[in-house]
Amino acid sequence: MSPMNAEGYFLETPGEPLVKRSLELADPGPGEALVEVTACGLCHTDLSFADGSVTTRHALPLVLGHETTGRVIAAGAGAESWIGKPVLVPAVLPCGECEFCAAGRGNACPSQKMPGNDIHGGFATHLLVPAGPLVSLDGAPEGTSLAEISVVADAVSTAYQATVRAGLEEGDMAIVVGAGGVGGFVVQIARARGARVVACDVKPASLEAAAAFGAEHIIDVSGREPRDVRKEVRGLAKEWGIQSLRHRIFETSGTAPGQVLAYSFLGPAATMMVVGFTPEKVPTRLSNLMAFDASVHGTWGCPPEAYPPVLDLIYSGQLAISPVVEHAPMSKLNDLLDDMAHHRLKRRMVLDPRA
Ligand SMILES: [Zn+2]
Ligand SMILES: [Zn+2]
Repeated sequence: MSPMNAEGYFLETPGEPLVKRSLELADPGPGEALVEVTACGLCHTDLSFADGSVTTRHALPLVLGHETTGRVIAAGAGAESWIGKPVLVPAVLPCGECEFCAAGRGNACPSQKMPGNDIHGGFATHLLVPAGPLVSLDGAPEGTSLAEISVVADAVSTAYQATVRAGLEEGDMAIVVGAGGVGGFVVQIARARGARVVACDVKPASLEAAAAFGAEHIIDVSGREPRDVRKEVRGLAKEWGIQSLRHRIFETSGTAPGQVLAYSFLGPAATMMVVGFTPEKVPTRLSNLMAFDASVHGTWGCPPEAYPPVLDLIYSGQLAISPVVEHAPMSKLNDLLDDMAHHRLKRRMVLDPRA
């Protein structure tokens, strides 16, 4: 049975505060699960929807939030086995039935649903979702914070999937452009997977954090020419004895200068991943890809089947999320969106809907 007292924070008018009000939820249909929300992480994408710079695919009003953990309290036909389970709700919920999904490319599934974009999201007491893509947190070791795991739904899993798509292997050189947020997780995951990591950023705090999380070399690129930075990176690769074939470049800054810099690092048979987003265009000579026999891949989200290895990294202590997470009551949501807009947030905020 659906709860009578569900509430959510609705985006009604872009540019105006989210509105807390009651949320009408249907009983779960076949294959659906009703999740009681434990926590929902606040992501920059939520701010983009809230301030109107990006339009939600579902018409407004819509409950935002796509980094949710919780517990299944009701389920429709075929999904009953989920009832009572602690779960993570991935930010991208693929249909699980189409050709994309069958090929392991569920994060590009044309029928995918994203909470807080296609359907009501996790800034609420409850969330109704297709059960198929849910990730069970049953195996979490004692003491694991279900609330903290919420950031795995997007930021951490996106970083992980980028390393998978890049074909990152032990002994590779991972060059991360933009070491905060998702990039910070790429640094940690690349290190955990045995790569040697270089981090580039314009913020000293992000670089310090990257160094603490396993980047062997950090480069403050503010005010420097890409050519000059490239020379430094190539010198390091030579020192470490890692040929460009094993260079994995991650553009996680989501800025035009970051994209230009990352692209400049490409050498023969190297691989670049475009992980960050910017609406800006950059001038590039695409023929460098031909000349270098190099690859550039885009990557977005993470297919559900890639979540268990991410959780293993966390459960085994190889990937630390506690130091980058901060807890707050969901009632502070509008203030936090404002803080985010003014770059006042230092950590990823995880919001408690009961406070
Ligand atoms: Zn997000
Ligand atoms: Zn699909």
